[in-house]
Amino acid sequence: MEDCIFCKIIKGDIPSKKVYEDDLVYCFLDINPHTDGDCLIVPKKHILDFHDAPDELMIHINNVIKDLEIKYHLALKSSGLTIIHNSGVGQEVKHFHIHLIPRYDLNDVSLKAKRELQSIDKVYETIEKEFF
Ligand code: AMP
Repeated sequence: MEDCIFCKIIKGDIPSKKVYEDDLVYCFLDINPHTDGDCLIVPKKHILDFHDAPDELMIHINNVIKDLEIKYHLALKSSGLTIIHNSGVGQEVKHFHIHLIPRYDLNDVSLKAKRELQSIDKVYETIEKEFF
């Protein structure tokens, strides 16, 4: 897509620090990393988010994540991963991507609620009513 920053990166029109590439995906370091090695897994085909991703692509991405986990562990001595995909709220770049954040210790990434939460009993009451 013409105005998409990730399409431009994949085409090589914008420079990036590639960590992996194959026919289906391009992976590169995030310019605003949470931890060392924080990268984005981006399908080469422009799609919006996981709703538009075919099952085969998701299976492929799962395998890419596992390979990168091993590489990061060997190269950067990471001990784990946090995997994030923003869909709808919080997605700045409207080209499907998965954030792969290597983890080194318990406190290097935090995902804290920034709004008041209902009790889980109340939330579950709604879920039970609506879901089943
Ligand atoms: P999201 O908010 O989930 O859409 O995440 C978009 C991510 O893309 C952010 O973490 C940005 O730091 C990252 N990003 C934006 N432009 C670039 C770029 N030119 N190179 C690398 N990462 C980028």
